[in-house]
Amino acid sequence: MLLCKTISISTFKQNLNYLEKLRCCDLSIFLRKHSTNRLELAYQMIKDKCDSKKLPKDVDVKAVFACNELDLREVNVYGFDYDYTLACYKPSMDYLLYNLGRQTLIEKYKYPQPISQLQYKPGYAIRGLHYDIQKGVLLKLDSFLQIQFGSVYRGLTALSNDEVLQLYRNRIIPIAAVEYSRSDDTQGKMVQLADLFSVPEMGLLCDVTDYFERNHIDYHPEILFRDVKNSVRLSHPVMHSIVGQNVSEYIKHNADLRIFFQRLVEAGKKLFLVTNSPFKFVNKGMEMLVGRDWKEFFDVIIVQARKPKFFTDKSRPIRVYDDKIGSHVWDRVVKLEKGIIYYEGTVKQLQDMTNWRGHQVLYFGDHPYSDLADVTLEHGWRTGAIINELTHEIETLNRTDFKRNANWLQMLTGLIEEHQDCEDPDEQKVFAQWMQERDCLRNDIKIIFNRQFGSVFRTYHNPTYFSRRLFRFADIYTSNITNLLSYSVNHTFYPRRGVMPHEYISYFV
Ligand SMILES: [Mg+2]
Repeated sequence: MLLCKTISISTFKQNLNYLEKLRCCDLSIFLRKHSTNRLELAYQMIKDKCDSKKLPKDVDVKAVFACNELDLREVNVYGFDYDYTLACYKPSMDYLLYNLGRQTLIEKYKYPQPISQLQYKPGYAIRGLHYDIQKGVLLKLDSFLQIQFGSVYRGLTALSNDEVLQLYRNRIIPIAAVEYSRSDDTQGKMVQLADLFSVPEMGLLCDVTDYFERNHIDYHPEILFRDVKNSVRLSHPVMHSIVGQNVSEYIKHNADLRIFFQRLVEAGKKLFLVTNSPFKFVNKGMEMLVGRDWKEFFDVIIVQARKPKFFTDKSRPIRVYDDKIGSHVWDRVVKLEKGIIYYEGTVKQLQDMTNWRGHQVLYFGDHPYSDLADVTLEHGWRTGAIINELTHEIETLNRTDFKRNANWLQMLTGLIEEHQDCEDPDEQKVFAQWMQERDCLRNDIKIIFNRQFGSVFRTYHNPTYFSRRLFRFADIYTSNITNLLSYSVNHTFYPRRGVMPHEYISYFV
């Protein structure tokens, strides 16, 4: 059967070699007594081929990647989010939010005192996961809304595949349960953790769930979810105050940020900031990152913007914040002036008062929905995503053991695909071993990123739901905003010509 198949040129050549080897053997042995030799020979040939291949070059951790062609010469206006876009936080921020949220759960929501003993576990959750607020499980979905088996957790306990199927009866989640997943939209059954602030929040949710489960305490997943979410949200003002007192403890220094802004201003570009954070907090961070004169780089500064509503609401007055007296001012705003701090408002007013529109605006943010979705879908702005996790993801992709395993997985899968119709019982045993090896490989290249949930960007073989949305809403993406310093202000980013399934020949990537 194998020999009748015409799959590809490379497979054809491989089969010719195979025939050659067959000729050298006693066919009766192959066909009657030692039929497994056929599979073993094919396996060894593919393995040798894989081992002889040169591994792909490393990817530059600081590169900017294009989902869509973007010519920076057309961009006259650069807009920025603040948290996790300009200001990248150290792991200490995760501990702080976790501890403050845990404290609020006990003090405000009267959760059991023993949860004060719970400790943040760095690297437990990843961005982009979904939380089922009715069933109380954290899970990873792919771009087809399929659940990734092995990445479904209740608290700190992984659910078996059978348990997952009992819960959902299907491995595909209906679209109505998932979309439209704004960060603050909990009307559906699932919410997505789309920003990095939600990672410690998920850690707290899983730890408290685990505490309840271990102690056989009855709880309602939705109530727990809302209490944890509110606790972390209510902790933000305290977090702002603590971070403001010691920004170096929480924000990573980035000496290139000032150089980046200088270069944009010298090139005649306009700069603006639209952030949900309050001015005092932003000011402390920007003074540390850029200098006390940071405001001079920006033509418009809008704080407490209430994104995504800033980009979707039809009307909310834009107001002035007087940073000298530290309070809000009631004056009507009729024009936007450099050096004035504004808050709230809508993108409509920003566009009307500046005439910054469409593709001449490039806005950078870390949140695919709050920052990027509406500005690209509704307003035609160009968009850049700052995805801090890319550093870890690319460093992992560059590891030799990852490259070897990923390529062997591809080639082994090809081998399995070609030989899956074997019917001989002995052959089926060999085939089962291949499947077992494939399962191990799949798990190895998952846990190398994150033991529980794997890569932010991939499930076993598909892009994640997070990836799909990110690639739809972002023209370019990179790990840090200042990576753009490696490219001129006239650079054009070209997306790769992606390989479609019907164009696919080699299993070696
Ligand atoms: Mg942000």
